[in-house]
Amino acid sequence: MQCVTSTAFGPAELLHRLRARTNGTAVSPVTHIERVPAREGRPAPWPTWTDPAVRDALVAQGIAAPWEHQAAAATLAREGTHVVLATGTASGKSLAYQLPALSTLATDPKATVLYLSPTKALAADQLRGLMRLGLDGVRPATYDGDTPREEREWIRQHSRFLLTNPDMLHHSLLPGHNRWGVFLRRLRYVVIDECHTYRGVFGSHVAHVLRRLRRAAARYGASPTFVLASATSGDPAGSASRLTGLPVTAVTDDASPRGAVTFALWEPPLLPTFEDSAEEAPPIRRSALRETADLLTDAVVAGTRTLAFVRSRRGAEVVAALTRQSLDEAVPGLGDRVAAYRGGYLREDRRAIERALLSGELLGLASTNALELGVDLAGLDAVLICGYPGTRASLWQQAGRAGRAGGEALAVLVARDDPLDTYLVHHPEAVFGRPVEATVLDPANPYVLGPQLCCAASEAPLTDADLALFGDAASGIVQRLVAEGLLRRRPSGWYWIHRGRPEVDLRGTGGAPVAVVESSTGRLLGTVDPGSSHAMLHPGAVYLHQGVSYVVDDLDLEDAIALVHQEEPDWTTHARDVTDLSVVNVRSYVDAGPVGLFLGEVDVTNQVVSYQRRRIGSGEVIDTRPLDLPVRELRTVAVWFTVSPQALAAAGVEPSEFPGALHAAEHAGIGLLPLIATCDRWDIGGLSTAGHADTEAPTVFVYDGHPGGAGFAERAYGTAAEWLRATREAIASCVCEAGCPSCVQSPKCGNGNNPLNKEDAVKVLDVVLGALPPSPPAPVMWE
Ligand SMILES: [Zn+2]
Ligand SMILES: [Zn+2]
Repeated sequence: MQCVTSTAFGPAELLHRLRARTNGTAVSPVTHIERVPAREGRPAPWPTWTDPAVRDALVAQGIAAPWEHQAAAATLAREGTHVVLATGTASGKSLAYQLPALSTLATDPKATVLYLSPTKALAADQLRGLMRLGLDGVRPATYDGDTPREEREWIRQHSRFLLTNPDMLHHSLLPGHNRWGVFLRRLRYVVIDECHTYRGVFGSHVAHVLRRLRRAAARYGASPTFVLASATSGDPAGSASRLTGLPVTAVTDDASPRGAVTFALWEPPLLPTFEDSAEEAPPIRRSALRETADLLTDAVVAGTRTLAFVRSRRGAEVVAALTRQSLDEAVPGLGDRVAAYRGGYLREDRRAIERALLSGELLGLASTNALELGVDLAGLDAVLICGYPGTRASLWQQAGRAGRAGGEALAVLVARDDPLDTYLVHHPEAVFGRPVEATVLDPANPYVLGPQLCCAASEAPLTDADLALFGDAASGIVQRLVAEGLLRRRPSGWYWIHRGRPEVDLRGTGGAPVAVVESSTGRLLGTVDPGSSHAMLHPGAVYLHQGVSYVVDDLDLEDAIALVHQEEPDWTTHARDVTDLSVVNVRSYVDAGPVGLFLGEVDVTNQVVSYQRRRIGSGEVIDTRPLDLPVRELRTVAVWFTVSPQALAAAGVEPSEFPGALHAAEHAGIGLLPLIATCDRWDIGGLSTAGHADTEAPTVFVYDGHPGGAGFAERAYGTAAEWLRATREAIASCVCEAGCPSCVQSPKCGNGNNPLNKEDAVKVLDVVLGALPPSPPAPVMWE
């Protein structure tokens, strides 16, 4: 039995209390209030095919009857129709696959089920749910990197409900399929949970891992039914079909009940300006982190269970630390009821925190990402979202943690001080009036397909029939792989001819995570992914773990270890980095007078060069200290265009506006690339400059954010006129005055969306489009 602290306040009153802090300011921080109405649940009878033992076990767990959407999806799956259930957080998606899967396991004592989740935490949650049902003969088990060797053999032989992830499938199950032959032969269902997370290059890789799974199952005589669960997303059936390569039916009508949510948009107030400041400085807002910490403090004081989502790991730690501090000042000991939670914590720590929040022992939690949280953590009284999470789909997923049936809840989006967040809190229609984005992936991407075909061939020779499974592009790619000496054609198919297995990293994160170790005790505090390790763990960095502050003594990149000691200085550290791009070669170009269009390889370098120490509280910069960290390089493929300064001037762009105009064109170009390349904007990087050493002209680069490229820049080059015309139209037709997220602002800009010049971006693109030949360009090959 869970003990749930019930708030004494409804959302309106809580919001009123949160607002009280800012009563002295002239402008209310609340820019908009949206009421998301309560929804009545629509139960359905148990499907007639439900196994009685399964039904009884579910009823014993308090599930009186399924909701309509659960019953609909379950029945489709039971009938053998591949189905995706795309409904809101906490709408009970698990039941939709548990029902057909467990009923089948009950009636067919040999059948097996494979469940895939993007995170270990989610698989562990699902395992606990299955264990609680206590059904005989199911023997559910997780199988991941943490599974001890000695348990693996038992699991292979006895588990009939295997919970794993695409990486394990790719690295372990499929290459060792002969040891899994019995399991695969009996495979009836494949469940893909949180399938919207398989997007971009990673999603394209997973799409092929699933095709390899289908091929392996077919070799043993099985053709399982796929059941997918997705957050609410645009075109779930289309995305699920691309992911699995199968026709998939979508169920999207959410019939679960939910309490009303009051959703407030919140803009932190301006800081008071000082009388004696001689110059007129631009006004500065309170930081979103501090504002979120204050709101969390007030919510906890009011006795409400509140979850704060913060975009960065560091930010989550800061919010938790600030909140604990102010609570302890108010009531000594109250700070203990708040914790931080993020990826990189050890599993035991995360579970302990989740349990404490569920029991009411903890009242406040500052967390990084909705997906990292246990699935049970829904139905909270309030959710604070510190900074727009980048997509409406993520926003709704985070807000969805608030609100339980019968109760009312509050969600607050706290704007960061940047143009994108500011725009959103003043344009609620951009948040509430539009459908969520579709999940984008491209299994035909040759940079993904090639390595995946090698993996498939190393598992079993590829036949002509197999190629159809991998899509239209596969036969061409196979020819190329033969020419490159990776595969060999024999009468019985194409063979992988090398000794080891192909080395293919699905996630492309580049290396092992860095372990954070306390030198005096040897205790492992957590891990940091290699991409952020330079910025977070450089010598001198203040590293927060569970609100306790550590200082880094040494970062050993070779062994991927950072040694730290506990210390509480009164400053925070902020790494500064420099990104640069140099052209390695030009594969192809179009010479169009004042405009040049290029495709080639580039080296993108990033170096963390120094860090600032800033006083806690005032944010005053104490000093900037140099660092000696190596440059990190990404060799990838880019498309770029150059425009002569004269042509820009003739179009009415002042030289002082070149940077803002090019930067705005770059952002919009990246935003529009998914139109023609079915990529995801998060897979792409950009760089714009009024003068580049290699091109000697104002230039906009757009590059694939993955080593070796991912095919996106290549497509952009091949359809440049079409791509840039759409970009120009998107900017020109946007009704905003000076740029907004719908046109030139980017949620991932490393320069805080500054400078941007919307009007001049249109002029830049007009010059480019006026000079470029209509699509397709006739390229000049240049070695
Ligand atoms: Zn706009
Ligand atoms: Zn930018």
